[in-house]
Parts: sequence; C-alpha cells; structure tokens
Amino acid sequence: MSEAVPHLSRSMQGRVVFITGAASGIGEASAHVFAREGARVALSDLDGAGAQAVASAIRAEGGDAKAYALDVTDPAAIKVVIEQAAGDFGGIDCLVNNAGAARLTALDAPEFDDVWQWQLDVLLTAHQRTLRAALPFLRRSDAARVVNIASTEALGATARNSAYVAAKHGVAGFTKAMAVDLGKEGITVNAICPGPVLTGLTRKIPENDRATFAHRRTALRRYGMPVELAHMILSLCLPAASFVTGAVIPVDGGLTARNA
Ligand code: NAD
Repeated sequence: MSEAVPHLSRSMQGRVVFITGAASGIGEASAHVFAREGARVALSDLDGAGAQAVASAIRAEGGDAKAYALDVTDPAAIKVVIEQAAGDFGGIDCLVNNAGAARLTALDAPEFDDVWQWQLDVLLTAHQRTLRAALPFLRRSDAARVVNIASTEALGATARNSAYVAAKHGVAGFTKAMAVDLGKEGITVNAICPGPVLTGLTRKIPENDRATFAHRRTALRRYGMPVELAHMILSLCLPAASFVTGAVIPVDGGLTARNA
C-alpha cells in the first residue's frame, strides 16, 4: 500500500449503532443494512413490539441486535434507554436520529398549536435530547458519527405542512450547529434529506397519487426504497467518512435537482 495514501476503514464490523424509529421504514431498513455490514444494532421505537420483531429478524439472519421501547418525546426515557443500550453493547459509536411522524394541518385549524408542538417534539427536540444522552459514549468512540434524518421539507415546503417543514428545517440547522460544536472532538454530524420513500409514512397515500407525484417531481420518476436511504446513512457512519460533517444531503431521486 502507498504510504502517500493512508488506509481508512470502510468496515462497520463491531461498531455499535443506536437507531430511533427502527420498527418500520427507513429505520428498519437501516437496522438490517448496518447488521449485514457487521455492526451491532441497538434499535428503538415507540412501537416496542415492532422493534422486537425487527431485532428478531436481524438475529435470525445471524446479526447482532437488541430492541428497546422508546418514545423520543420522553426525555427521561431517552436517557435511561440510551444508557441501558450503551451498557448492553459496551458503548455507542453511531447515533441515527430517524423516528418521525407527520400530520398535515391548515394554519387556521383549531388543533394547529397542538400539532405544531408535537411535530417539533418528535422531529426536532428529540434529536438534541438523544444526542446529549449519547454524547458521553460517542466521546469514547474512535470514529463517532451522528446522522439526522431530515427531509426535502428541510429545503423547501409543501402546502399545509408548516409544522413538519419548520421542524425539518430545524434539523438541518441543528445538524450544522452540532457539526461546528463537536468538530474539535472529531465527532461528525450530518443530515440526509429523503425525498419520497415508500414507508409507513407514505403508504396511506393512494398508489396512483404516489406514482403521479414521483413521475412529475423526481428525476428518477419513482419513489425510493427504504434500503436506498439506509445505504446513504451507513456511508456517513463509516470510519472512512471522517471529513464529512455539517452536510445536509438530499437523497431524493433528484427531486431538488429537477425544475420541470
Ligand atoms: P415510518 O412510519 O415507516 O417509520 C417511522 C417510525 O418512527 C415508526 O416505526 C414509528 O413507530 C416511529 N415513531 C413515530 N413516533 C415516534 C416516537 N414519538 N418515538 C419513537 N418512535 C416513533 O416512516 P419513515 O418514512 O421510515 O420515517 C423515518 C424518517 O424519515 C422520519 O423522520 C421521516 O420524517 C423521514 N422522512 C420520510 C420520508 C418518506 O417519504 N417516507 C421523506 C422524508 C423524510
């Protein structure tokens, strides 16, 4: 090997990854993809039984996974569960802030304030709470990585979605702020912005509407599969991804690139 080009590892073997919202969609696919690459996966979800089922499926494939019931809007539970997972696995190298839910609401709807607060709690406040809880463990890792799941709604806006849009723009800002604060410790913090992906979140949209939207808006003319997002998340968690931080990366089939 050339001395001028040092080796940087593309192996996730033995690295411990904590994922929120891992019972479904992008989080579930990520748990599988990380485990297939040899990572040890602590997966959590509001749906504890769903998380257990994903962990069992990963173990059945020969992977190392353990499930935890966790509502990311509960600050006390976040601390308890992250400390428990770090104890069970002997540390945490990577944190994937993925849990999310969405509800469209018009500005003048009576429930607007409640929806606003809930969206900020689930989609944004949770990210700082999990990061602060995981920080003591990330600091002990030799290649600590944080990946926040934002959205193309962090770069633009869809009608009647202001709470979600504001929260996801907040995720982009928080990602940059944390990259700056933690950079001197070598901890990288990045965000991905998924475009339309077929998951629990989008499955309720009628298939015809999904196809029309994807055809009109994305360069690839289709919805993404959760596993395609999972591979981008994994790439940002590699030890070799050591000079990428504060990046807010569209993974959207070309939605943000396409004008017409
Ligand atoms: P999904 O519904 O398939 O999965 C989301 C998971 O989060 C579910 O298992 C759910 O139980 C969990 N969750 C919801 N509220 C929670 C809470 N309070 N505490 C813990 N877990 C909770 O949806 P998905 O599309 O895989 O969503 C994953 C992330 O991707 C979300 O942050 C979402 O905003 C983002 N995203 C999705 C799309 C898309 O098109 N699917 C596009 C852009 C961004």
